[in-house]
Amino acid sequence: MTETVTNWAGNITYAAKELHRPHSLDALRDLVAGSATVRVLGSGHSFNEIAEPGPEGVLLSLAALPVEVDVDTGARTVRVGGGVRYAELARRVHGHGLALSNMASLPHISVAGSVATGTHGSGVGNGSLASAVREVEIVTADGSTLVLGRGDERFGGAVTSLGALGVVTALTLDLLPGYEVEQHVFTGLPLDGLDFQTLETVLASAYSVSLFTDWRAPGFGQVWLKRRTDQPLPDVRWATPATEKMHPVPGMPAVNCTEQFGVPGPWHERLPHFRAEFTPSSGAELQSEYLLPRPHALDALRALDAIRTTIAPVLQTCEVRTVAPDEQWLSPAYGRDTVALHFTWVADTAAVLPVVGRLEAALDAFDARPHWGKVFTVPAAVLRGRYPRLDDFGALMRALDPEGKFANGFVRDALGV
Ligand SMILES: Cc1cc2nc3c(=O)[nH]c(=O)nc-3n(C[C@H](O)[C@H](O)[C@H](O)COP(=O)(O)OP(=O)(O)OC[C@H]3O[C@@H](n4cnc5c(N)ncnc54)[C@H](O)[C@@H]3O)c2cc1C
Repeated sequence: MTETVTNWAGNITYAAKELHRPHSLDALRDLVAGSATVRVLGSGHSFNEIAEPGPEGVLLSLAALPVEVDVDTGARTVRVGGGVRYAELARRVHGHGLALSNMASLPHISVAGSVATGTHGSGVGNGSLASAVREVEIVTADGSTLVLGRGDERFGGAVTSLGALGVVTALTLDLLPGYEVEQHVFTGLPLDGLDFQTLETVLASAYSVSLFTDWRAPGFGQVWLKRRTDQPLPDVRWATPATEKMHPVPGMPAVNCTEQFGVPGPWHERLPHFRAEFTPSSGAELQSEYLLPRPHALDALRALDAIRTTIAPVLQTCEVRTVAPDEQWLSPAYGRDTVALHFTWVADTAAVLPVVGRLEAALDAFDARPHWGKVFTVPAAVLRGRYPRLDDFGALMRALDPEGKFANGFVRDALGV
């Protein structure tokens, strides 16, 4: 490639032969039909080689296509183009008095790339972002468009697809009536003495809840509650209200974060932790995340506490969230109430990888599924046992893309297909 293209974190430099940014759908179709290997690059916020087509392949960005966000207020749905980011989508949807049911920690990410990896926010009643998708339009290997909607038997493989079925050119999402959210931050939730029922109460105490720890002590330095203003105020007795605005990464400026101290505001300016116009998270980092059945949450946290002196030296922050079950075969929250254990590491692959290995060993007993867009080393043989519909996904891949145009090394290694 004549230009150097990296992911957001800068730990991956794509080896692709060419980067193309088609300006029209027809140009995109021709490019796909005429190329042997293609991968789409979304907003590049993944931390591994999931988007890498390899040195002979074509990397395709949808960023130059016309921005398409069509809200249907009657049906309460939105059709969004394959290159659009959540910040733009949310702004337009809010303009129609409607809302998405949830968002990730940042609005900077593309919608298609996010749902492709099973990206999620938090909330015991909130599924992954893919669970809002009702229809997906895919340009397949021969350049033609396939539309798959809920009700089609292939739909369970079509959204959280790791980009392996084709180019997603549009998605139709369910919307809700608009709502407001207020964000309350608490400090000092100890792990010592925490029982399962109290942990469940904490995790369910608001529409979206996040616990943060740097594992330098056995407990959570911050608890963020995002309460819908049309839902009851939680009676918080297990932590202390924060006295200053906070950033999840200790030492980082709270100005980068969405409004706190219970100031009500529109859903899209409170559900993400980070403001669209600022750098999200710390900006110099790697990330890993493991999603496991929620009943294991307390035991898994105790297992992390047991190795916290290994974790803490390379950790910026660890976040605990919940995700409701969904029906996407490759979603890490497929079929089970989930607790998600997230790690923002320092930006040092050599130092982080051995710790990731220790962490995965500590979580092995809990049937943990790694986030597809983050750093992990769990081998395909183990993943196979953790995804009951993995073979169905492999069959769908072979049916839609018999030559393997959209399969890369990451997908083959991870799925063992
Ligand atoms: C600071 C930060 C915070 C994060 N917070 C969260 C969080 O709160 N929750 C969470 O779950 N994750 C989080 N992530 C991870 C992030 O959401 C995922 O990595 C997500 O996939 C990023 O979307 P993207 O568009 O950047 O995808 P990319 O990394 O560009 O691509 C991911 C995959 O999607 C495919 N893809 C992208 N667009 C298309 C398309 N149009 N058609 C077909 N395939 C496509 C790519 O080929 C690739 O396989 C965070 C990441 C960062 C950097």
